[in-house]
Amino acid sequence: MNTVTLKPSKEKSLLRRHPWVYANAIDRVDGHPAAGATVLVRAHDGRFLARAAYSPHSQIRVRVWSFDETEPIDHAFFKRRVQRALAHRRTMVRDTGAVRLIFGEADGLPGLIVDHYVADDADQRSQIVCQFMAAGVEAWKDAIVAALIGATGCPNVYERSDVSIRQKEGLEQMTGVLAGEPPSDVLITSENGVRYHVDVRNGHKTGFYVDQRDNRLLVQQLAQDRDVLNCFCYTGGFSLAALKGGARRVVSIDSSGEALALAQQNVAANGFDAERASWLDADAFRTLRRLYDDGERFDLIVLDPPKFAPSREHVDRASRAYKDINLTGLKLLRPGGLLFTYSCSGAIDSELFQKIVASAAADARVDVRILKRLGAGVDHPLLTAFPEGEYLKGLLLQIA
Ligand code: SAH
Repeated sequence: MNTVTLKPSKEKSLLRRHPWVYANAIDRVDGHPAAGATVLVRAHDGRFLARAAYSPHSQIRVRVWSFDETEPIDHAFFKRRVQRALAHRRTMVRDTGAVRLIFGEADGLPGLIVDHYVADDADQRSQIVCQFMAAGVEAWKDAIVAALIGATGCPNVYERSDVSIRQKEGLEQMTGVLAGEPPSDVLITSENGVRYHVDVRNGHKTGFYVDQRDNRLLVQQLAQDRDVLNCFCYTGGFSLAALKGGARRVVSIDSSGEALALAQQNVAANGFDAERASWLDADAFRTLRRLYDDGERFDLIVLDPPKFAPSREHVDRASRAYKDINLTGLKLLRPGGLLFTYSCSGAIDSELFQKIVASAAADARVDVRILKRLGAGVDHPLLTAFPEGEYLKGLLLQIA
């Protein structure tokens, strides 16, 4: 068996059940494990620590499959992990056709993301969409796809492994049909009573921001009779939720014309009054300032920008960008107004994010109250041993 032996005292994080081993913690590798091959991980004194996948090209050299010495890594292992993940979702996630079935490390399948979209209409195909982001899950792709089909009964599996992170694993970016029929041109799914188009082939990530479900519902519940501004709206997730919730009007901004086109189709698919919604194909930073200068004011604002800090080096610049939009966002609110503000940058933790918002509030000269801390839904669990899994953090703020 290929074996990875750690340097003295480097076993500590694995004993705390953190699922990664960095290259610099490894003393020696016995055997010639191929990319994605299963290795035994041992402490310097030879003690068993884990069975894991080997990533020869990545600084994250080893990702743990199991801390159980008796558990073989085979087809049955992947079947069990997939079934366990699904059983958890079945009891916890309701009122939606869009569910994250597998959330990487938290589901014991490091580097794997799987979303399931159930189509509303019988003539559209339901679809599983996967992202394979590490050598281990790449090597077991066939077993994982078979387990997903078996557990869900959905025969259509599409791959969206067009993510730059694969380069670090020495893997090419890939998209395409893994099983069943190619995705329907139009897939409409429902979430909390709202219909959304999902473009699994060309949309962001797997096509839809499944992670914001609970937050969209909260917007739906708080939107009644409010003037709403949704910045970085993509296909209109929060905008549709606000319209459903009875918003007086919803102004949405995004710099992607394609996303806005789908957003407008979403308005029609729900039979909402198109007059209540306006869509600005524009840069959010400049548009926020222009709206302020024009004297526009809102009762509820959503700021859900793309990841401004892809890694640690970008934190300072990203912090300034977050501050910029939050400052203008706060100034655009009427007294008592609500701001839903998010960061999906893993490199910016919730403490830093709150400091950035506090600094924006100080510059805006308003008292800002945190009503609620926000995050991804229960289908994006966070392992206590793996805080790196927390990427989406948000605050529901109210100005006095
Ligand atoms: N809130 C969305 C997801 C946002 S993803 C939802 O819940 O579905 C981030 C979006 O920001 C993308 O649609 C992207 O096109 C847009 N974007 C990126 N930079 C932008 C900019 N400078 N101005 C406006 N939109 C931008």
